Amino acid sequence: MTPEEIKQEIFAWAEKIGVNPREIHFRNMKRKWASCSSRGRLTFDFSLLHEPAEKRAEIIVHELLHLRYPDHGRVFKALLKAYLAKNK
Ligand SMILES: [Zn+2]
Repeated sequence: MTPEEIKQEIFAWAEKIGVNPREIHFRNMKRKWASCSSRGRLTFDFSLLHEPAEKRAEIIVHELLHLRYPDHGRVFKALLKAYLAKNK
């Protein structure tokens, strides 16, 4: 996968979830998969490009949901599960 292809995937998810990421970046993050800023800037680790589809979806949906829910509360977890279940 190229960064451009992954971006398409991320935007497709963003549309389903109803969020609007302003910027998407890739870099080497060492200790985590991704991060998001409150202004809608998402950064993903380069290793995302080599993950299988299911793992990618997990990481992408997790980060996109943070644009709406900053913590890992009950609603966050329920939605994450629901979106990933629908993806199968
Ligand atoms: Zn998180």
